[in-house]
Amino acid sequence: AHVMEKILYRKSFRMKNLQRTWQESPEGSKMLTFRKSLPAYREKERLLSAIAHNQVIVISGETGCGKTTQLPQYVLESEIESGRGAFCNIICTQPRRISAMSVAERVSTERGENIGESVGYKVRLEGMRGKDTHLLFCTSGILLRKLLGDRNLNGVTHVFVDEIHERGMNEDFLLIVLKDLLSRRKDLRLILMSATLNAELFSNYFGDAPTIHIPGFTYPVRTHFLEDILESTGYKLTSSNQLDDYGQDKLWKTQRQLMPRKRKNQITSLVEDALKNSSFECYGSRTRDSLANWNPDCIGFNLIEAVLCHICRKERPGAVLVFMTGWDDISCLRDQLKAHPLLGDPNRVSLLTCHGSMATSEQKLIFERPPPNVRKIVLATNMAEASITINDIVFVVDCGKAKETTYDALNNTPCLLPSWISKASARQRRGRAGRVQPGECYHLYPRCVYEAFNEYQLPELLRTPLNSLCLQIKSLQLDSIGKFLCAALQPPEPLAVQNAVDFLKMIGALDENENLTNLGKYLSMLPVDPKLGKMLIMGAVFRCLDPILTVVSGLSVRDPFLLPQDKKDLAGTAKSRFSAKDYSDHMALVRAYEGWKDAEREGSAYEYCWRNFLSAQTLQAIHTLRKQFGYILKDANLVDLDARTCNSLSHNQSLVRAIICSGLFPGIASVVHRESSMSFKTMDDGQVLLYANSVNAKYQTIPYPWLVFGEKVKMNTVFIRDSTGVSDSIVMLFGGALGKGEMVGHLKMLDGYIDLFMDPSLAECFVQLKEELDKLIQK
Ligand code: ADP
Ligand code: MG
Repeated sequence: AHVMEKILYRKSFRMKNLQRTWQESPEGSKMLTFRKSLPAYREKERLLSAIAHNQVIVISGETGCGKTTQLPQYVLESEIESGRGAFCNIICTQPRRISAMSVAERVSTERGENIGESVGYKVRLEGMRGKDTHLLFCTSGILLRKLLGDRNLNGVTHVFVDEIHERGMNEDFLLIVLKDLLSRRKDLRLILMSATLNAELFSNYFGDAPTIHIPGFTYPVRTHFLEDILESTGYKLTSSNQLDDYGQDKLWKTQRQLMPRKRKNQITSLVEDALKNSSFECYGSRTRDSLANWNPDCIGFNLIEAVLCHICRKERPGAVLVFMTGWDDISCLRDQLKAHPLLGDPNRVSLLTCHGSMATSEQKLIFERPPPNVRKIVLATNMAEASITINDIVFVVDCGKAKETTYDALNNTPCLLPSWISKASARQRRGRAGRVQPGECYHLYPRCVYEAFNEYQLPELLRTPLNSLCLQIKSLQLDSIGKFLCAALQPPEPLAVQNAVDFLKMIGALDENENLTNLGKYLSMLPVDPKLGKMLIMGAVFRCLDPILTVVSGLSVRDPFLLPQDKKDLAGTAKSRFSAKDYSDHMALVRAYEGWKDAEREGSAYEYCWRNFLSAQTLQAIHTLRKQFGYILKDANLVDLDARTCNSLSHNQSLVRAIICSGLFPGIASVVHRESSMSFKTMDDGQVLLYANSVNAKYQTIPYPWLVFGEKVKMNTVFIRDSTGVSDSIVMLFGGALGKGEMVGHLKMLDGYIDLFMDPSLAECFVQLKEELDKLIQK
């Protein structure tokens, strides 16, 4: 121990020298000057002393004031300065992988180092850190995983949990675990950071921990709501009074007392009514339709286009930030704008996108200033709301929505839907416009809708299925799931917890007594949704890994099949070419991916994607994720190194279908043929429709009694996005419903009946491989 200490002191001394050398160099001191100009700098001493004297502190401050890049760095620097650099281990969590990576990159630059030296990052399946890394940026999920292996976080000295105002599920979960840990680790420091001011909530949760606010300066931002915008883009609102009255109406006040989820739906229909009843007089032409059909459920692309045109033609210079809900509508809008004579002209407009899966080269462009006389327009998800700061933004266009998973515990259906943001988010979005000079913010919804927004967004813990979370709680060997979650900042409904536990029992991850099964242990090691994790394990055990890797990666990334608005038919035809009558979107994905690999080898990948309406970027992302899943399975000893053995049955179509079913169950709908029409019913008797781009939507009849599906999307009605036809025998054997306990249980039970209802080739591999599966589950 003594020797170890000596080494660490020597290392600390080296770190101190390095830091001084950099700070005294010309670039280093220039960087230091910039850093000293940030609002956080003025609070530096106060912050460091608060951290030294309290176990927990809560810090809030305007986005861009230097919380993320500066505060953990101050701690690192002061430890290094005091000659204890090698003794500290600082972890700072981010809700998104891309921010963890870009912040680590930025802080390394500020310290004149390469990433992976004293500053590193770790995100799911990826990381850059070395033996000298003492400040690690990671996603909150990664820290949870770390806690799984080491419940005391030995060696860690400071934990920063960033962006807590977002109330992500992992953050809420982390806070429960950390709160418990603090009593055991008196020396551990916890610093919570948040952009908006609901600091009291967190401070109370940690026994009135001290709060520090970093005052920031922002320029005033002029706010325009829909009614104002309509005027300036060529519309005249003849019944604006009516909208205002609506906003004042008592109805809104009663709405506030309803359940938040219900309230949202009702707001939607109230706005719909309000707009239907009000008549708009139109002076433009193209935008008329979008307005007449102004549907609060959709994002009006034409309206956005009109606002952007207005800014480019009439307004002063300055970059524009457009808040959209997700990659889908960002890419659709981008295509639409590219075709516009003004907005699509690269000499006048630099059109960029900012979202979770953008390429690094594009990331850099976002921060750069465009050439003179070119207007930068950035189409962004709500990532640009608080975790990424683009300095030259003067105009903000806010669609008022964010893609949010909502969860209906009563019907046990998760839906990923764009829904209205909160007042706090709207303020935050508006604030992005006033960083360098006075700005303008265009909210694409009426003021009355804004008035009815929730003050803050509902925490994710209360609006998502808890499947993964409950599995993690179990593998951390914490209390009973229900008891544990009661300790949350805002505990979820008991019914939501029960649904998750039932689900985990059904897929065989928990046994009757809610204990983790061996399958459950494996599933908790895989950083994917338990459903997909099960599919991976089954694919490995049943030796059809390649196609299953593609399916799982595709389901985790996004659909690579593009659906351009004006070429829907052509795109549909292109997709069905991949399905060769096997009634499966998942198989079509596998074929499309394999075709792309071949085309790449021949150097014709670009043409291939273009011809088949495929997104090369998505295929690339799937390719990367596939490889990473492969490594993880290898690490977990689920596959051996020989690619041939784990793929010896990949050609067996029924088997691949069965494995897809084993993962997606209970996502299953029965196919009901009646006369000339076909309908689909889910397990709970709900009617669902097929998404237009599904290969199965092309057929009059489907020769399978069941469709398993990966994603159910709730719009006006419930749609299933992607599906695969499966037979009765597959559902009976591989759809986890029969056995209540571990899946092996019911597989054994059915052993004797295999010949009766399985197709022979499937029966053969089932018998061959069941033994292997037994071994695995008993291990
Ligand atoms: P906060 O976490 O309080 O929102 P940050 O620490 O992320 O603020 O950023 C502080 C400042 O650092 C920003 O206002 C911006 O000027 C600068 N900055 C952050 N990231 C980058 C980057 N990648 N490139 C250039 N400047 C950056
Ligand atoms: Mg930040």
